[in-house]
Parts: sequence; structure tokens; C-alpha cells
Amino acid sequence: MELPFDNSFAALPDAFYTRVPPTSVKAPKLLAFNDDLAKLLGISKADDAELAQIFSGNFLPQNADPLAQLYAGHQFGNFNPQLGDGRAILLGEVIDTNGVRHDIQLKGSGRTPYSRGGDGRAWLGPVLREYVVSEAMYALGVPTTRALAAVSTGEDILREQGMLPGAILTRTASSHLRVGTFQVFAHRGQVDELRTLTNYAIKRHYPEATGPMDLLRAVCTAQANLIAQWMSIGFVHGVMNTDNCAIGGETIDYGPCAFMDDFNMGRVFSSIDQQGRYAYGNQPNIAIWNMAQLATALLQLFEDKDSALEEATAIIHAMPDQIETAWLQRFAAKIGIAAPTSKDTELIQKLLDLMQTDGADFTNTFRALSGPDARDQFTDRNAFDAWATKHAERIAYLPNVQDLMNTTNPAVIPRNHRIEQMIQAAIAGDMEPFNRLMTAYKKPYTLTDPDLANPPTQSEIVPATFCGT
Ligand code: AMP
Ligand code: MG
Repeated sequence: MELPFDNSFAALPDAFYTRVPPTSVKAPKLLAFNDDLAKLLGISKADDAELAQIFSGNFLPQNADPLAQLYAGHQFGNFNPQLGDGRAILLGEVIDTNGVRHDIQLKGSGRTPYSRGGDGRAWLGPVLREYVVSEAMYALGVPTTRALAAVSTGEDILREQGMLPGAILTRTASSHLRVGTFQVFAHRGQVDELRTLTNYAIKRHYPEATGPMDLLRAVCTAQANLIAQWMSIGFVHGVMNTDNCAIGGETIDYGPCAFMDDFNMGRVFSSIDQQGRYAYGNQPNIAIWNMAQLATALLQLFEDKDSALEEATAIIHAMPDQIETAWLQRFAAKIGIAAPTSKDTELIQKLLDLMQTDGADFTNTFRALSGPDARDQFTDRNAFDAWATKHAERIAYLPNVQDLMNTTNPAVIPRNHRIEQMIQAAIAGDMEPFNRLMTAYKKPYTLTDPDLANPPTQSEIVPATFCGT
């Protein structure tokens, strides 16, 4: 079997990474393989046993150049000067059939020099969660890393919950450069490395950018669009640390992430996010905060610090409006308005307020808006009817309202209780629920499996997702 590697990150100086092979595992077994993605990447066919050997790290394919990347990061607001891939290994990069470059990374593949106290491993639950949710995000049209393979290792690992089956995820990304990759060199005052990294990031992600300030501008725009997209589908990332904030603008690191059922601006799922720093409604603020950290790092590249600071500040200060504009565009489309004006904000906000008061299901309410049953989602139906009258007036003469609504309001999203049920089944050796979810989430704008559109019953609700990944 061949992976057509074309490695660029490994050609950077040693300061950026440590070369380290994956650690072998006892009895790798292929749980899932993404044939569509493999085809896109030009990866040749192979049988399950061979795939399990490769995507467990037991067998290194030709021209792989395995390494762990160095980075730092603000975790819940506190700066950690050195993180790095503690349990992930970049095998190399592949250029897909469209000419797009992707990292191919094993996650859970053993210890590295950056593991700190960790075991370098991942357990089955988070591996399958990331597989399902990242692929669902892709199908929803959200920029994201993707899942190529999931392999169980045949080894148990220890987590808070006890001994759990180990697994390895192979993910692809347009790169794994993060805000934290810039922070580590800025913090150490390694300006040459910072400049090399900046040039590399520009070449790889934003070739039209003319320098660090332009790079900052491009990343801010990508992040503003990404956050608006998350908000528009009720997604809570859960751990928006600067080391989980990708320079390429993809969603990365599906740890304690979840989609909301009933709408609540303050929704938090991560069991360790006691302050609600990464709550649904706080995500725009955090994205801006993260971009301010990137700006701070990049400022070291400028001779004239005062004027650079002024320019970078202006870029960061433009972000609230940028997010607001992207948010309005996304949410207006969800209620059938393709070309919103600022006056539409009030109409959207009013709907969200009613939803929050009544605990209406986010996904199902928006999906129902294009039909006659939306009022069933509300307890105060008179209040909803009053809103619906205003809405009907607003969209009365607009073209393609139904189409727009049905292509922006998914029928199914990966609900937390379904993910948990899928994980429990997989632990017991049953991958059927996984396959069922993958089939449905591949076409999220079509209702192919109506049962999966149902919110959880009282006893099915999963209030928190563990960070013990
Ligand atoms: P995350 O919260 O998954 O983004 O991880 C934050 C940091 O902790 C990264 O540097 C990870 O590589 C590291 N890390 C997480 N889990 C482990 C583990 N089991 N072993 C070693 N390092 C880990
Ligand atoms: Mg991370």
C-alpha cells in the first residue's frame, strides 16, 4: 500500500519538531476507514489488516517522516510555554487529487518528548467521537480536520473512568499550525524561527498575503467565518485554547465538543469548564481573544513596534463587526433571507430569545420554520405566532426561501446522546450504531433516518462531556 507523501513541514529546521516514530501496539484492528477521503488523497486500496498495521503506527509506510510538532498555548487563559504533540505524530503530507495539501496525523500513537505526564494514548470514546463529529462537520460544510481511519489497539489504558480500550485516530488537516505554534517561538524570543514559520504559514495557507500583518488579517477573517458557522449549527467547541485554534481556519480538536439540543446561549458541555469560558455564546469573544494572542506573537517580527501595534490593534478591533456580519449572513439564511440588512438582526434575535425562554430544540426549530409545525417547538405559542407573522411579512416577496432554509438548516446533527450510545455500543464490540450515524450524517440536510432527529428523552440527556480524552 502506498501513501503519496510530499512532506514540507519536515523540511523546516529541527527547532519546529522532534522526529519520533509511533509506538507499536499489541493487536491493532481496523474499526473504520474513510474510503471517500482515501480516494481524494490518492491512497491506494489495501485490506483491513494492512490498513490496521499502518494506521496504528505498527508499520511505517514508505516516505513517511514521523515527527511530533512543538507548540505552546493558552489553556483556559493560562499560558503554558511548552505543549507540543504529546500523543500525536505527523506521518507526513499528501497532496490530494485537487492539488490541496493535507497533513496525515496519528492521534493516540504513543509518547513523544512533549508528552509531559501523559501516556501518549487515546481511548476509543474520544476517537470515535472525533471521527463522527468531524465528518459530520465536513458534510455540514464547516471547515474542519477530517477522519481517515480509526483503529483499536488491543491495549487498555487508564483514565478517570477506569480502564478503557485504547484506539488511534488518523486525521487529516490542511495543516496542524496553531496560534500556539507561533506563541512558542515568540515566547522564547526566537525571532528567526518565528519568521520562518510565518513565511511557511503564508505559503501554505494564504499565498496572497504579503507579510505577517496580512497573515493576521487572513487568519482573523477565517476565524470570524468559522465561529459564525459554529454558531449557526448550535456547535460548542468546548476547548478553544490557543493550541486548538488552527491557522488555516479549520475546526480542530474535538474533545469535549457537542451540539446543543435545547437552545441556550450559556450552554457548556465540558466538565472542566466551570466558568463557562467556552460557552456557546462566548465563542466569538474567545476567537477574538485568541487572535489577539496571535497578533501579540507576530508583533515581534516588526522593527517599528508602535505602528505595528496600531495596525494589529485595528485588525483585532474589526473582528466583532466581522463576526457580527458573518453571523447575520448565516442566521438570516436560516430564516430564508439571502441578503440581510442590519434590521434583520432584531428579527433573528427575537426568535432566539423565544427559543431560549421555551427551551426549544435548536436544530428542529430552525428546520421546522419552513413548514407548518414550527409552533409545536414552543410552549408560548402566541408569542411564536406573533414572531411568525413578522417573519412571513419579511420573506413574502423573496425568491427561493424554502431552498435556502432547507440547505442551511440541517435535519440531523450529531446529538450528544447518540454519540454516547454509539460509544457504549463500540466498547461492547458493536459498530452498527457508528455505521448508522455515519450514514445519516453524511447527508445532514436530508432526513434519511427520522429517529436521529429526535432530541434526547429526559433519561438520555448527556449533560457533560469528559475532558479525559
Ligand atoms: P488537548 O486538550 O487534547 O488539545 O491536549 C492538550 C495538550 O496535552 C497537547 O499538548 C496534547 O498533546 C497533550 N495531551 C493530551 N492527552 C495526552 C496524553 N494522553 N498523553 C500525552 N499528552 C497528551
Ligand atoms: Mg489540542
